[in-house]
Amino acid sequence: MQEYQYIYRKNFTLVVIFLILITSAMAGAFFLAYNLTSKYVENEFASQKIDVLEETVKPYNDFFQNKIPEISFYQGYLDSAQTSKYIDTIFRKFRFVERVIFYDAEISNHKIPDGIRVNNFSMGPKSVYQFGRDISRDSILLYKNDRPDSLFILKTGDEFNKMAIKFSGFIELADTAQALNDDDRFSVFYSIRSNRITFMNIPRREEIKVYKDLMYKKRPSSPVYEMDMLTFYLNPLKLEIINSHPELYQYISIKPLVYESLENDSGFMENDLPLSGPFSDYKLYFSSGKDFLRKEVNSRFRPIAAGLFIIYFVLVLIAYLIFRNLNINSKLFKLQYDFINNLTHEFKTPVSVIKIAGNNIRSASKLSDRERIHYGKILDEEADKLNDLMNRLLSFAQIENKAIKLKPESINLEVFCQNMIDSYQLKYPGFDIECDIKDVEYFNSDPVLLGSIFQNLIDNAFKYSSPDNKVLRIIIQKVKNRIVFKFSDQGIGIPEKDIRNIFKKFYRVQNQYNQQGSVGLGLAFCAELIKFMNGTITIKSVVGKGTEFRIELPYEI
Ligand code: ATP
Ligand code: MG
Repeated sequence: MQEYQYIYRKNFTLVVIFLILITSAMAGAFFLAYNLTSKYVENEFASQKIDVLEETVKPYNDFFQNKIPEISFYQGYLDSAQTSKYIDTIFRKFRFVERVIFYDAEISNHKIPDGIRVNNFSMGPKSVYQFGRDISRDSILLYKNDRPDSLFILKTGDEFNKMAIKFSGFIELADTAQALNDDDRFSVFYSIRSNRITFMNIPRREEIKVYKDLMYKKRPSSPVYEMDMLTFYLNPLKLEIINSHPELYQYISIKPLVYESLENDSGFMENDLPLSGPFSDYKLYFSSGKDFLRKEVNSRFRPIAAGLFIIYFVLVLIAYLIFRNLNINSKLFKLQYDFINNLTHEFKTPVSVIKIAGNNIRSASKLSDRERIHYGKILDEEADKLNDLMNRLLSFAQIENKAIKLKPESINLEVFCQNMIDSYQLKYPGFDIECDIKDVEYFNSDPVLLGSIFQNLIDNAFKYSSPDNKVLRIIIQKVKNRIVFKFSDQGIGIPEKDIRNIFKKFYRVQNQYNQQGSVGLGLAFCAELIKFMNGTITIKSVVGKGTEFRIELPYEI
C-alpha cells in the first residue's frame, strides 16, 4: 500500500509561507507606524507652540484691548486717587505690569511750564505720579508744576513729550468734520515700545475742535483743559506661561530674542516663537527631553500597535483555520482511502473464494457428494458474507438518510438475549457471554435494529479481546423511565485519544485485531441507530483491562 502522505498534498508550506509573510508584513507595519508616529509628534512639537503663545498672551490681549481703553471711559478726567484705584485693579489682575507713570496734563493757549507749544496750542504736565508694585501702595509724586522745587526731568518727560508732539501734530491736521478712525486712534494715542505702552486719553470730537481753535485762533487766555496719559512698564518675564500641551512641551520659558542654547547635543529638542508688541525683544522658548517625547510617541503608538496586533491575530487565526481545514481534509482523505482499501479487501476475499470454487466445479469431470456439499457450503457462506457486507452498507446509508422506519414490537428480553447468546456461542465456541436482566421483562422496540446494535457490540467484544480471554457480560436494567444496556468486556481497551473518534464513520484504532474484516462502521452505525431511537451511548475504557459500552433508551412497553 502506498503511504498516504505521498498521495494527499496538504501543502502546509503555503500556511508557513503565509505566516512568514504576515509576520514580516506586520514587523514592517510596526516599524513604519512607529516612525510615522514619531514624525507626527515632532511636527506637533513644532506647530503647537502657537497654541501656547496664544494662551500665554491672552491676559496681555485682555489688558491691551479692554483694560487700557477704560481710561477713555471715565467721565471727566482722572485725578490721582481715581488713577490709583484703576491701577490697583491692573496690578491685581495683570502680573506683568510692573510700574505705571501717570501724567496729569493740561492743555491751554497760554504757555505751560515744561510743556510743548505749537502755535497757540500748549500742552504740559500738571503733575506726574508713579505707581509700582515694589514702590509702595501709594503713588509717588514725581513732578508738580506749581512747586518751584519740582523738576520735570528728561527721563520722566521723554515719553510725555513724544506723545504731546504726536498729539499736537494730530490737532494741527485733524479733520473735525469726521469721526476718529481706528488707525488714528492707534497711531496717535498709543505708543508701543519695548516693554512699555503709553496711552493717552482719547478726546471727543468737540474737544478736538476746541483744541484746534486754541491752536489757530488768537484768543485771550483760555481755560485749562485736562488730559490724562499713562505709561505702563511691562515685564515679559512675568507673563504666566500657559502650557496648553504638557504632553509635548516639558519646559517653556521666556527668553531674550537673542538667546541660544549653549549645548550642542543636549538630548533635548528645542524650538522658539517670538512674542509680539511690547514683548517683541523676547521669545517663548520650548524644550523637551528626547526621552520625554519618546514617552509621548509610545503612548500615541500604543493604540496603533493594539490595532496592528488585532489584525495580526485575525490573520493568524485565518491561517490556523486554513491549517485545521487542511488537516480535517487530510483525515477525511485517509478515512476514505482506508475505507476503499478495506471494502475492496472485504469484497475481494469472498469473490476470489467463489471464483476458485466455481473454477473447481467447472473443471471437475465428476463431483463426489462430499465435494458437492463442500463447494456448496463454501459458495453459500461466501455469498452470505457478501450479502452481509452489502446489507451493512445499505442500512448505514438508510439510517443516515433517515430512510428506515421503526417497526416496534414487544420484545421478551430474556428470549431475545438467549437467542443472541446461543447463535454467538455457536459461531464462536470459546466466547463466554453472559446476560443479566434486572427488573424488566419486556421492552417495546424494533427487534431488528436492537439486534443490530447487539451484534455490533458483541462482535467488537469478541474481536478486540485476546484469544484466551473472550468474555462479555451484558447487563440490562430499568432505571426510572429508561432502559440501560451495559456491555462489559475484558479486551484490549481503547486509548484515551481515540475514544472521542470511535463513533465516527470509518474510524478504526490501529491494532493487531482489526486487520481483517473491519471497516470502521460498526460503532458509527450503532450510534446512528441509537440516536434514531432517541437514546444515548457512552463508553468507558481502560487500555489492557477492558471496555464498557452503556446504552440508554427510552423505556416503552
Ligand atoms: P466494523 O465494525 O465496521 O467491522 P470496526 O470494528 O473496526 O469495524 P467499529 O466497530 O466502529 O469498527 O469500532 C471502531 C474501533 O473501535 C475499532 O477499530 C476498535 O479498534 C475499537 N473498538 C470498538 N469496540 C472495542 C472494544 N470492545 N474493545 C476495544 N476496542 C474496541
Ligand atoms: Mg465493529
